[in-house]
Amino acid sequence: MTIIMLGPPGAGKGTQAEILSAKLGVTTLSTGNILRTAIAEKRPVGLDAKKYMDKGELVPDEVIIGIIKDFLAGHDLGKGCILDGVPRNINQAKMLDEMGVAIDAAVSLEVSDSEIEQRMGGRRSCLKCGASYHVKANPPAKEGVCDKCGGELTIREDDKPETVRQRLAVYHKQTEPIIGFYAEKGKLITVDGTAGVEETAEKLVKALEMIQ
Ligand code: AMP
Repeated sequence: MTIIMLGPPGAGKGTQAEILSAKLGVTTLSTGNILRTAIAEKRPVGLDAKKYMDKGELVPDEVIIGIIKDFLAGHDLGKGCILDGVPRNINQAKMLDEMGVAIDAAVSLEVSDSEIEQRMGGRRSCLKCGASYHVKANPPAKEGVCDKCGGELTIREDDKPETVRQRLAVYHKQTEPIIGFYAEKGKLITVDGTAGVEETAEKLVKALEMIQ
C-alpha cells in the first residue's frame, strides 16, 4: 500500500510512519529526514533548504520535486511506500499524481494546536537516522541515544516554540487543504492522534485494514 501521513508538525507522522513501514515491510519517503541529512552533510541543497526550515516555512516545491524524483529513481514502489511529510501543499499532491505515484490512503493524524505546542518541547530526534522520541510519551531505552542506530538524540532547531507556532500557521494555510483533496478522492482516513504511540498505531492499522 502507498500511504500518505498528514497532520500538523509533531502529530506523530514520523513515528507512525516508522511503525507502519516495519509492519507492512515497505519503504518510507520522509522529505524532512532527507533534507536534514543534506544539511548534516553540508550539501548545497540542504544549506539552501535550511534557511526555510529554520524559519518554519516550506522549502520551495522545485527542491521537493527533485527529492521525490531522486527517490523514485532509486526505489521500486511496487510493494508500496509510506510518505511522511510529503505532499505539503496542493501543488505537491498534484505533482505526485502526475509522477504516477498511486495513493491508496491519506491518513490525517488529528491533534490540536495547543497539544502540539506542549508536545514539541519534549521531542528528541536522532541526528543520524531521523527517528523521533518524546521524553515522556515515547522515551528511548537510554537517555540521549537512539534505540534504532545508537545515534545522538537532539532537539531539532525548528522545534523551538516560536518556530513551532510558525510551522502550525503554515500547516493550516498550505497543508490542511490537502485533507479535502484526498477526501474528494475517497482516500481520506482520519485518526485521533492524541492517544499514546501504540494505541494510535493500533487505530491506524485497523482503519487501514477496513480499506484493504
Ligand atoms: P518535517 O520533518 O516533515 O516536519 O519537515 C521539517 C521541515 O522541512 C518543514 O518545516 C519544511 O521546512 C521542510 N519540509 C519537509 N518536507 C517538505 C515538503 N514536502 N515541502 C516543503 N517543505 C518541506
